[in-house]
Amino acid sequence: MVNVTFYGGVNEIGGNKFLLDDHGTKIFLDFGMSFKRRGQYFEEFLNPRTANGIGDFLEMGLIPDIPGIYRSDLLEHHGRKSEEPSVSGVVLSHAHADHANYISFLHKDIPIYCGETCKRIIDAVAEQTTRDLENEVIDFRIRPLYRSGYKIPPVIRKFHTFTTGKKFKIDAIEIEPIHVDHSVPGAYGFLIYTSEGPLIYTGDLRMHGLHADMTDDFITAAKNVNPVAMITEGTRINKKKTDESEPKIYHDSKKKIQQNKTLSIVDFNFKDVDRFTTFYRIAKDLGKILVINFKHACFLEQYCQDKKLQIPSINDPHLALLKPKRLTGTYINEDYTDTYIKKRLHYKNIITAADITKNPTRYMIVLNFWYFSDLIDLKPKKGLYIHSLSEPFNEEMEISYDRMKNWLKHFDMEFFQSHCSGHINGDDLKELIKTIHPKKLYPIHTEHPKLFKKLPSKTIMVKEGKTYKL
Ligand SMILES: [Zn+2]
Ligand SMILES: [Zn+2]
Repeated sequence: MVNVTFYGGVNEIGGNKFLLDDHGTKIFLDFGMSFKRRGQYFEEFLNPRTANGIGDFLEMGLIPDIPGIYRSDLLEHHGRKSEEPSVSGVVLSHAHADHANYISFLHKDIPIYCGETCKRIIDAVAEQTTRDLENEVIDFRIRPLYRSGYKIPPVIRKFHTFTTGKKFKIDAIEIEPIHVDHSVPGAYGFLIYTSEGPLIYTGDLRMHGLHADMTDDFITAAKNVNPVAMITEGTRINKKKTDESEPKIYHDSKKKIQQNKTLSIVDFNFKDVDRFTTFYRIAKDLGKILVINFKHACFLEQYCQDKKLQIPSINDPHLALLKPKRLTGTYINEDYTDTYIKKRLHYKNIITAADITKNPTRYMIVLNFWYFSDLIDLKPKKGLYIHSLSEPFNEEMEISYDRMKNWLKHFDMEFFQSHCSGHINGDDLKELIKTIHPKKLYPIHTEHPKLFKKLPSKTIMVKEGKTYKL
């Protein structure tokens, strides 16, 4: 018997955690963090307590209570006994936190399978993130019950990486990863050969991006195996096809930046390598310098090692690294204690806000809202701000969005929205489902599962924690 249980990603966008059980061989497809659920109980100054191990996370339903999957130290902190692993592996579709982050809670002996580039992104994130329970993805320090035990060296998780089309086995289950296009490189969909027939998992994907051909490869491969079932993302099932595209962002943003007579600020998610390339190309084509921060540098250096991504090196003449103000505010090297900054302080293209104000038209600054206090030093009077991210879709985001607009107003800056989604639109998704034509359909990663009902496959309205026979 083959069963699937959905422990996340049900009636919500992200938090995917699907347990597949094929005659006793158990694997998880993704093990992500649910932003929605976390936001229901916690916020900036109210967080789950580390001192309670996994207790707070279990109590508030942020992770499912399943025997044999969690770290021994976290179980012991919660007053439980440690357990032997009951799951043979976790397969990650891509490196977004809503699919990957909560592997930080998992037993050290449960191996993680992910794409090569996915692993690079996880490494880049790990380099710059302070370790806490929700971020100890690559390695973690065992938290023993007694202080004397804190000298134990860190535990490094076991990762196995794959590339497109290369099948691999986790015990009895054979898995074929096929690349898909998404707003992060190293994203995959899967053909999972279970004893009841092939099961397809889409991960997150789209058809309107620069690499639609990769999603096409996935669709063809999935269709050819006559799947018995498909677990499909449905983030934008309620959205029609539009003219959104990466070239449109290039075109529209370039025009705006050309018209702007002073400093241009751009804001996008640095995990999105296509978006980086778009703004880098604009900088190059307009003879400007794209200024990134030290966190961005961690990503860029990882991307550079992947030749397929064709990313410029950090010393490229059209790139510069913005030195943040720390401690004394005088930019002396002793002020920097973060390792990811310290090890890069010798780079030749490091500049400060003061350097930029001398000739603002020369630069395009990549600056996220959380770093807006830098605007005080950058003095972007009458400048341009390009928001290349999705528009706010919940109350908390609305509040930050209003605050962001206040900053722009203060500096008399022009706001320009230019973005295309990482997710397939409803029209393309219906087409994809019709082409692959699985017998059964499990819509997840969506707030509108009912919209899938009109399709030719038998659609199952998934309930969280419920087990379904394939
Ligand atoms: Zn997602
Ligand atoms: Zn994603």
